[in-house]
Amino acid sequence: MSSPQSPAGRPVTVVTGGSRGIGAATVDHLARQGHDVVVGYRSGREEAAAVVSGAQAHGGRAVAVRADVSDPDDVDALFAAAAGHLGPVTGLVANAGLTAHLGDLADTPVDVVRQVIDVNLLGVVLCVRRAAQVMSRRRGGPGGAIVTVSSSAATLGSAHEYVHYAAAKAGVDALTMGLAKELADDGVRVNAVAPGLVRTDIHAGAGDAGRLERVTARVPMGRPGEPEEIAPAIAWLLGPDAGYVTGAVLRVAGGL
Ligand code: NAP
Repeated sequence: MSSPQSPAGRPVTVVTGGSRGIGAATVDHLARQGHDVVVGYRSGREEAAAVVSGAQAHGGRAVAVRADVSDPDDVDALFAAAAGHLGPVTGLVANAGLTAHLGDLADTPVDVVRQVIDVNLLGVVLCVRRAAQVMSRRRGGPGGAIVTVSSSAATLGSAHEYVHYAAAKAGVDALTMGLAKELADDGVRVNAVAPGLVRTDIHAGAGDAGRLERVTARVPMGRPGEPEEIAPAIAWLLGPDAGYVTGAVLRVAGGL
């Protein structure tokens, strides 16, 4: 089965959190595979511009759009900008996320808990909801595929680090499975990738740049993953080779 394509003949894929880490590696991988790409970001304007240049160097079209995924108006504007610049959207990678803080839940301020759930769960709900509206064949869309970015935390629980983040990611898994069934006969597949421990800035963003080295011993393969090792799994789930795959959570976590 071939993938839905825009009138330009190429898939048009929105990647939230595309300015850094797993999102940036995914944009690069998708651009190499012939996708036109929208690079969503919240604050990293220069990083997003660099990711766009890299994608364009692979011969595709790419634009950066600032949007806070936890703001419904920003999410609507993100998809409107995508369609306006590149044509009908045929793919979404709901990747934007953060951990923000490390510690026991009892020591985590409520505003941090709220932010983590807002970005990691509500943000994904808002993005996949909008994607369903514009991609659903029943609603006049082109069909397509959605990949959410979950975490091994969803099944491990992340005690003493961020159990509220783990709960948000478990919510992403449930959302992915339910929406997959809702859209299964509507031309839209929905799957998740669950990374384990990946070398990105997310750990420094939670205030512990040394976390990667500190917790590497927990990984059965004995090393963290690289963003470039997560991106191909996301691209596979988006593409035609995964044409009969929907509602799956694909763990890419070195055994974690
Ligand atoms: P990262 O390097 O810190 O990048 C996070 C990206 O998300 C950035 O592009 C950031 O944009 C964007 N972002 C953050 N808050 C946002 C918001 N409110 N609205 C829009 N964009 C926002 O993180 P990463 O490690 O690549 O993480 C990507 C995904 O993988 C996340 O969902 C994360 O939970 C998941 N994950 C990561 C690991 C890991 O070990 N790294 C493990 C499991 C799962 P700006 O920089 O522009 O603000």
